[in-house]
Formats: sequence, C-alpha cells, structure tokens
Amino acid sequence: MLEVHNLTVRYGAVEALRNVSVKVPDSGFVAILGANGAGKSTLLRTISGLVRPASGMVTLRGKSITGLKPEAIVRLGLSHVPEGRGIFPDLTVAENLTVGAYVHRSDHASRYASVLANFPALARRERQPGYTLSGGEQQMLAIGRALMSGPSILTADELSLGLAPVVVKQVFETLSEARRAGVTVLVVEQNARLALRFADYLYVLKQGRVVLEGVRDELGRSAELVDAYLGA
Ligand code: ATP
Repeated sequence: MLEVHNLTVRYGAVEALRNVSVKVPDSGFVAILGANGAGKSTLLRTISGLVRPASGMVTLRGKSITGLKPEAIVRLGLSHVPEGRGIFPDLTVAENLTVGAYVHRSDHASRYASVLANFPALARRERQPGYTLSGGEQQMLAIGRALMSGPSILTADELSLGLAPVVVKQVFETLSEARRAGVTVLVVEQNARLALRFADYLYVLKQGRVVLEGVRDELGRSAELVDAYLGA
C-alpha cells in the first residue's frame, strides 16, 4: 500500500498542495483528476522524490519514503512515468529500455523480453531512435522503460496528453495489463471519462486540495463531478 498523509507542498509563496491524503491499495488502479494547476503533477513528483514536501508523509508498505532520493524510491519498487514522457530521443528503443533497468541489472534480459512481448510496436522498432516514434509509441516506450525496473507500483503523469483517443485507449490498456500482472497503478489525468473507465478509485484535486473521492461507480454518478468534468 502506498499512502500519502496530509501532504503540503509549496513552491516559494505558491501552495501547490494542502493536507492531501491519498491511499493506493496493492494491485489497485487509482486516478487523480483535476484541472490545470490543481497540483496533480506536484503530488506524483513528491511521491517519487523529485519534490520535497513542506509537511506530511509518503509511506510505502508502512515505511516512510518522504525525502528519499528518487533512485532510492525506484529501488523500493516505485517507478514514475513523467509528464512529457522524458524518453531519450537520440537513443534507440532498446537503449531507452536499458536505461530504465539501471537499478536492477540482474534480470535485465527477462524484463527486456517481457516488456517487448507486451509492446509489439516497440519490438518492431527496437533499433530505431526514440525521436522517430509516434507520440503513442513514445508513451509506450516511457511506460516500458518504467517497467524495466520491475516496479510493484507505477505512477504516471497525464499519459493522454497530445494523443489521439484511440492511442490513449491503447496506452491505458497497457496499464491495465500491467495491473493484471500485479503492478499497482496510480495515474493523474485531466480526462475524467478515461480515468473513470480504467481506475477503480478516484480522487479529485482542486487548487491543491482533495475535494471529492470515491469508488468509480459512485464517483461517476456524482453531480459535482458530472458538472465539473463530464458536461450536463
Ligand atoms: P498541469 O496539468 O497543468 O500540469 P497540475 O495539476 O499537474 O497541472 P502542478 O503542475 O502540480 O498542477 O501545479 C500546481 C501549482 O503549483 C500551480 O499553481 C503551478 O503553477 C505551481 N507550480 C508547479 N511547479 C512549480 C514550480 N516549479 N515553481 C513554482 N510554482 C510551481
């Protein structure tokens, strides 16, 4: 279980998160919804050790990981797919995947084979540089690279950004696949319909606070959510 307890994060005078608490159960698929600037990326960046909170705590399996370096957090089994993918455009698909395995080199070959088996589009482009891939393929590569460290939890920031709906669906199906294989998934998303389709528990962030949360079926019927995100 990954837990965020009363997290407050500030960038100078800007309070990006205030007293945010989130629970991600093992093998769950949790989504954080919210508009631009709601604090979604800040939440994931704090969980993965890229940002230090002003107060509050992040725990993994009951132990605090707050303030640990990102590499230490990856070693504990939490892998992050950043917004904008962050793949290396001049490295090949194979090289990008190998970079993802840096914390666990031992069973690199079997992980590599399993990622390629799950992403046939990447397998066909193994020797191509990252910049030659389509947006959807780059997103798959970013997810594949995160899976190369053999995580128990995968966090992903706005995977749908800039992708066509059909490609977004494929990308999210990949996450569902990872989840079926036992990986816990936490995503942040602006696209509420998409999040409601794939996640089983959702939180809504607004101006740095959790304003709504619930299981998919309940939240999908919430008048507040429908008004704010899904239209009349
Ligand atoms: P988006 O979908 O646009 O990325 P978000 O929900 O992920 O939005 P954050 O990027 O977490 O939101 O930003 C939350 C708030 O913190 C915003 O007001 C933003 O302007 C501010 N912020 C984010 N990063 C920084 C930074 N490095 N320095 C100063 N302010 C920041």
